[in-house]
Order: sequence, then C-alpha cells, then structure tokens
Amino acid sequence: MNFLQTEIPRIDAIKKLYQTFGVTVNVLRLDLVHPVISGNKWFKLKEYLKDAGQENKKTILTFGGAYSNHIIATAAACKEAGFNSIGIIRGEKPKEFSPTLEDAQTAGMHLFFCSRDDYKSKIIPQTIWQQFAQNDIYIINEGGYGEKGKEGAANILDLRTKEYTHIIAATGTGTTLAGIVSAANPGQKITGISALKNYNQLNEEINALLPHCLHNQYTIYHDYHFGGYAKHNTELINFMNNWYNETGIPSDFVYTGKLFYAANDLIQKEFFLPGSNILIIHSGGLQGNRSLPKGTLMY
Ligand SMILES: *Cc1c(COP(=O)(O)O)cnc(C)c1O
Repeated sequence: MNFLQTEIPRIDAIKKLYQTFGVTVNVLRLDLVHPVISGNKWFKLKEYLKDAGQENKKTILTFGGAYSNHIIATAAACKEAGFNSIGIIRGEKPKEFSPTLEDAQTAGMHLFFCSRDDYKSKIIPQTIWQQFAQNDIYIINEGGYGEKGKEGAANILDLRTKEYTHIIAATGTGTTLAGIVSAANPGQKITGISALKNYNQLNEEINALLPHCLHNQYTIYHDYHFGGYAKHNTELINFMNNWYNETGIPSDFVYTGKLFYAANDLIQKEFFLPGSNILIIHSGGLQGNRSLPKGTLMY
C-alpha cells in the first residue's frame, strides 16, 4: 500500500518566544505529512486500513460531520489504498455541500446523510445494503476511536521525541492521546487539551485503550474549549493570527488553535518549571478553516 509513505514530520523550534520563562518549545508538524490526510488522522487510519486489508474487506465505512477532518482523511486514504469508502454524515443532506464533503465525494466517498438522532445511535441507513455487500464492509468508529487508532497514533512519537520533558496535544476522542501515552518515556509528562465542553467521559475513554499501569498517567485540561466543540470567538481568532505572525505556524479553530492558545497560556502562568523542554503536537486539521468567512484568518 503506497499510501503508507508520508513525509517524516518536521520539528519547528519556537524558542525565542518563551526564553523569559526558561522553557523551550517545539512543534511537531504533523500538519505537513500529507496534503490531504493531514495530521493525526493519517496515523490513526493506517492501522485500520492495514487491518481491513488483512480481513479482505473492500469498503471502509465511517461517521462524521460536514466539516470533519476524519471524513476527508478517510476518503483520501481509502482512495490511495484502493478501498471503497462510505461516509455517514450527521444531519440532513444540505442544498450545498461543504468544501469538506465536496472533496470527500471527489475522492470517491459515497455519502449518506442521516438525522441527528439516528446519527447519535450510529444507525447505518438501510439504503447502503442495496449498494454494498455487508461482508465487504469494515467499520471505523467516529473520529477513528479505538485500539487500532491508538496503535497508529503511537507512531507519532519517534527517537527524536524522547528528549522532551513535556508533550502537549489536542484531544477529541482521546485516541491520539492514548497512543502518545502508550509510546512515551516513563518520565515524559503528557497533557491533553480537550476540544469539547464537559466531556466528562474522556478519561474513561482514554483509559479503556490503555493498560492499567498507564491509567491517568496524563493530564487533561477541559477549560480551553472556547464555548464548545468547533465554537470560536475573536479572542481565539486573534490569537491564531498572532501565533501565525510570530511563529509562521498556521492552526485550525477546532483543535490546534485552542491547543496553541492553551500551551501559551500554561507557559505564561508558569505551569512548566524552568528547564522544561516542551513538544506541542500539531495534529493538522487546517482544512476545517474553510468553514470560516473569508478574511477571518490571515493565512
Ligand atoms: C481529530 C483531531 C484531533 C483529535 O484526535 P483524537 O484522537 O480524536 O483525540 C486533534 N486535532 C485535529 C486537528 C484533529 O483533526
């Protein structure tokens, strides 16, 4: 499967901003590993696709919203790896497709829309069985949550990341964080910034993917959601523009903008002891910025 080849993620140093706090800050640029299958989604997906191939499945089915990074990544990865793909999309079919859905469809993904209630219970629309053989279908959870996703995400860390005392990442389902926790050195402190509001089961969901000895060997911050999942305000947008100005690193408003905001805030509040060597994981997701009005972001 040639889609397994991607760029080795670059690490960008942004030391000069934080010299006064005695910490060094670096960013692992997963946003650059692939033009479409960006960030952590590529790492999570590849283990699922390997598994689907071993089970001789021909079609990948998964779930997501109209701007979902997971949907577009799945569509593109399936195209490269030679699978059919099906996306079950939350909400009624819109008159006009979002750029994400347009691109997913162009990549060959078959889109099925379902009501928010049916979506919640992950009901697979009956019409799918008129077009696809049930035995050929391999199902990936919403957001790629699960064991294989964690195994793939563990590969985000490599020999270069061993030197860091702290690793910070954005979390949705927690799969990526579970992968990072499972691959980290015993001494490394892992911090997750939740993109959701009041997601009280997050620790439970992460622990379910980890051996007992790693349960709660990480910290989650729940206070940087800016009103909830995919919510934003001018403070966040201004921060994202300033961050881009100062570091040259673009971020998205759903996950990584909030991640960099949180990291910056925690550094300013001297949460990290002097001498800390911090790695922030840029998990990609920039395509989602296309839902913002033109001109909101300077990049
Ligand atoms: C999906 C996503 C996340 C969340 O990953 P989980 O493994 O679900 O916690 C973080 N950042 C970006 C950019 C994403 O697209």
